[in-house]
Amino acid sequence: MIQGYLDNPYHNLWHAVDTCQSTFYILHILDSQDKASPLFVNADFLNPMDRFVLILSCLGHDLGHPGLTNKLMSDTNSPLSILFNDQSILENYHLLNLTIILSHVDSLTAGSDLANIYAAKNKELAISIILATDMARHSQYVDLLRTRAEILDRKNANASGSDYSVPSSKHSSVSWLSSDSFEDKKLLCALIMKCSDISNTARPFKISERWAIHFSDEMSNQTKFECSLGLASLLTHDSNSNSNSTLNSNDGSCENQLVGRNEDCNTATNLSGLSSSQVVFYNTFSIPLFKAAGDLIPALSFMYKQSLFNCETWKNM
Ligand SMILES: [Zn+2]
Repeated sequence: MIQGYLDNPYHNLWHAVDTCQSTFYILHILDSQDKASPLFVNADFLNPMDRFVLILSCLGHDLGHPGLTNKLMSDTNSPLSILFNDQSILENYHLLNLTIILSHVDSLTAGSDLANIYAAKNKELAISIILATDMARHSQYVDLLRTRAEILDRKNANASGSDYSVPSSKHSSVSWLSSDSFEDKKLLCALIMKCSDISNTARPFKISERWAIHFSDEMSNQTKFECSLGLASLLTHDSNSNSNSTLNSNDGSCENQLVGRNEDCNTATNLSGLSSSQVVFYNTFSIPLFKAAGDLIPALSFMYKQSLFNCETWKNM
């Protein structure tokens, strides 16, 4: 796994470790909830093998990341974009790398205690977890979580006999997860994975700021690479593109705005650009996800609160 990560400024081994640590912490929070609390979310929903799959997926979710975006892969007709038919190119590539590594681990061979990792359901779970990290599909997941929260509010309102507008923080023991639903298991794991993948935006600001700079550095490297290939035109603003920043990673201009990179070959650090791009990133990705996660699992509301604080701090810089 260690050797499988490249020395990128952001998508490197430490991002995988950071994501893994966050997932472990979230599982710990779920396990530590007061079971008598009306806000309890059943942590037993994930059995030990589910957790093993989740942790492995976290460690391997960016394996072999080249420090370039899906959009560049697609625009340049890279071999990977052809191999994966422009569908979640990097995420499928990470999955492939993880599969190759696991195939060489003796303790996972047939007959061992952990060989069950290759059971169909576990493979399906790992695939869904890693593909969920494609940010082009981010809003789909957030919408899915919001819908669950609305249904839960409705159930609670009906249960309490009050009107429909019950505050989301008042979720009762009515669960938003069906114990026998594999789709719900995948959704909960995706929620945990996605929160962990961008958990650096919900860490104390000084730590979060360092991750943001690393991410910006990686994008600057991509800009230099594009310029060296004479692809500067990919960075130009498309006046027909969506100007309200609806999150679609296939929209190059929006992508540039999100990562705060210059739309020309000048890759000098632009701190004012970084702060404004961070605000866009928080408002588009982090805050909606952490809000939806906190509505469903109140024990995770601290991520929402910290992301709001960090966003305000970026705004005031
Ligand atoms: Zn990641």
